[in-house]
Amino acid sequence: MARMSNALSTATYKLAAHLPKQLPADTGREVAFAGRSNAGKSSALNAMCNQNRLAKTSKTPGRTQQLVFFEVRAERWLVDLPGYGYAKVPLPLKAHWQEFINGYFRERQALSGLVVVMDVRHPLREFDLQMLEYAKARDLPAHCLLTKADKLGRGAAGNTLQAVRKELGDVATVQLFSSENRQGIDEARAIVTRWLQL
Ligand code: GDP
Repeated sequence: MARMSNALSTATYKLAAHLPKQLPADTGREVAFAGRSNAGKSSALNAMCNQNRLAKTSKTPGRTQQLVFFEVRAERWLVDLPGYGYAKVPLPLKAHWQEFINGYFRERQALSGLVVVMDVRHPLREFDLQMLEYAKARDLPAHCLLTKADKLGRGAAGNTLQAVRKELGDVATVQLFSSENRQGIDEARAIVTRWLQL
């Protein structure tokens, strides 16, 4: 069987925004990726785009206050939100950042969907739920990747999937994912590709 072509493989880094005025024009369509730091978000983005080094898997604190934009094609973007869960961000920065991210979620017209990346062993933590709340508040479709599924046996992973699915109801769809053994990559791509109307 022919390999499925991957519309996301053309993604390239374009810019990082620290401030609202640095955001690209709010005209196209974009899908945002959120997750606790270390959940496997960079690895998931790289796997979905068929690239090794698109999203950096480094944990530099400097990246905690940026929205990173990858262009798939004209007016089609993937947006890497900073991993949450850093304790060491100074408080004034935190407030400024909260305001930026709140505004982005409230007002960004191009935002067409939210992917929340969660370690399958630690799903639905406080900030994950907050991100899903943002999406629900404006009727934005949301999809959860339960990453590192390779770390659990099939039974345990399946049980977590069912439990998370039940808890989320119609707030978000959910799937198992692994950048390591490539489980669920086509399923995740299909959703993002549809949201971007690629
Ligand atoms: P981020 O901070 O959310 O961007 O997480 P990274 O993508 O940098 O991944 C954090 C750590 O988890 C790294 O050591 C990755 O190699 C590892 N990791 C990411 N995805 C997977 C996965 O699907 N399976 C396994 N076993 N490890 C993973």
